[in-house]
Amino acid sequence: MRKGTVCLIIMTLCTVVFALWVLAPPAPKPRMVALTFDDGPHQVHTAELLDILEENDAAATFFEVGEIVGEYPELLARAVSIGCEIGSHSYAHGNLAEMDEEAMLADLAAADEQFIRAIGQAPVLLRPPWGDYDQRLVEKSGKAIVTWSLDTRDWESRDARAVVDYVKGQGGLAGQVILMHSTHASSVEAAGELVPWLKEQGYQLVTVSQLIEDCYGETPAPGGVYTYLFFK
Ligand SMILES: [Zn+2]
Repeated sequence: MRKGTVCLIIMTLCTVVFALWVLAPPAPKPRMVALTFDDGPHQVHTAELLDILEENDAAATFFEVGEIVGEYPELLARAVSIGCEIGSHSYAHGNLAEMDEEAMLADLAAADEQFIRAIGQAPVLLRPPWGDYDQRLVEKSGKAIVTWSLDTRDWESRDARAVVDYVKGQGGLAGQVILMHSTHASSVEAAGELVPWLKEQGYQLVTVSQLIEDCYGETPAPGGVYTYLFFK
């Protein structure tokens, strides 16, 4: 065979392989959803949420407020014991991005002290209150910043039906991080309907860290930022 013909065959093969690689649809994400509950622990509602999760063999992530953790450490221990994840939501629910660096770091350290007392370790994940963060927080907090991709606005509507309809009305939920709160009875009621419904739809309810690993192939680490731009 002439050299030119061999070259032509090789070039054609390379083009075909490249075209297949470019045109191939991305692998579908595993059918996983991460429910997240902020602002607890709440003496009544966090316990009710844990009951729902346990009954349905489901996990979720709780972004807890450090100054409340000391009042109900047993709720965090129970969450961990059933496979849930605990993230920091600051010590006093102040705006970390508006604090000077010293105050910001002191707040996070005070929160970590409470988490260590309750569950023996400081969380890797930090959800800054209101999702407000800046580059300083990313670089200095020693945490992975996690916000959400779907906001149920449950704190605003206080209406379980509205929360359930919002989630059910979304398209594919694989790889999504859903924001809720553990401070309202209506949010617990919504979770009571959503958790079994999501399972019926074939979704596995996992922690944020597991979702980032299994749907996006990353391990959440300090300096990482995981916002709605990431969870697409
Ligand atoms: Zn909050």
